[in-house]
Amino acid sequence: MSKRIGVHLGTAGGASNAVERAREIGANTFQIFSSSPRMWRAPKVDPRQAERMKALRASLDVGPLVIHTSYLVNVCSQSDDVRQKSIEAFRGEIERALILGAEYLVLHPGSWKGLTRDEGLKLAAESITHAIDGLPWHGTGFHILIENTAGAEFSLGGSFQQVAELVVRLKPTAPVGVCLDTCHSHVAGYDMVSAEGYAETMDQVATTMGFGAVRVWHCNDAKSERGSKLDRHEHIGQGTMGVEPFRRFVNDERFAHSAFIAETPVDEPGDEGRNVRVLKSLVNSA
Ligand SMILES: [Zn+2]
Ligand SMILES: [Zn+2]
Repeated sequence: MSKRIGVHLGTAGGASNAVERAREIGANTFQIFSSSPRMWRAPKVDPRQAERMKALRASLDVGPLVIHTSYLVNVCSQSDDVRQKSIEAFRGEIERALILGAEYLVLHPGSWKGLTRDEGLKLAAESITHAIDGLPWHGTGFHILIENTAGAEFSLGGSFQQVAELVVRLKPTAPVGVCLDTCHSHVAGYDMVSAEGYAETMDQVATTMGFGAVRVWHCNDAKSERGSKLDRHEHIGQGTMGVEPFRRFVNDERFAHSAFIAETPVDEPGDEGRNVRVLKSLVNSA
């Protein structure tokens, strides 16, 4: 199978249009939001859109389809009200992902402010289990991917270890894997820029979630320094990471099963395509 390389795309004019856009810019996988990422209310998926999307993806060989969960969802909030709303909203995210036939739904594990990290971890696992309870995911290949975060204070998932702990807790009740974000890892303090640092960081992947669990790499360069904990994405090759770490990722056989998706800024029209081209240009041809 060919390497899966793509980018986050807008869904103006309907989610199915994104499939054709992906192909036009040379991508064979992509990520979308299935609702406005900063609003609680989400519209229902039009079943005709979903069917059109599935047919287009099959005929154009575009996949996996990755959906990113709304930023409002906080499954480990100390507030019962926010947590309840988050569980309902996340259930809606899973329902829409299943209707659209998405393979992956990416989730930030949330902020445990006001609690301990262990309490946050426990709440996150309970909330996610609750959200997916009774939904028809069996046999679909669908997975929830826990994304590592930039390591800001109180945010769960700032280390590979924390992501892995949540995955272990969820394994018995939910289909779960991992999405690692290069920018988040870099600003959280992981060295992926030097060759030795990359090897050490990959050792940490091996001893926490393991390579097989990493279904998606979010490929973003960083505007901020390593260890700064400031989450600002930059065009690939133009930030504090530079282009070399991305060459290692896309050619690392231990991630042959992973999709590589840029969530780079759109400063000018065509930026999505440019970042996809940069990623594709890094793949060693056999
Ligand atoms: Zn994210
Ligand atoms: Zn990301």
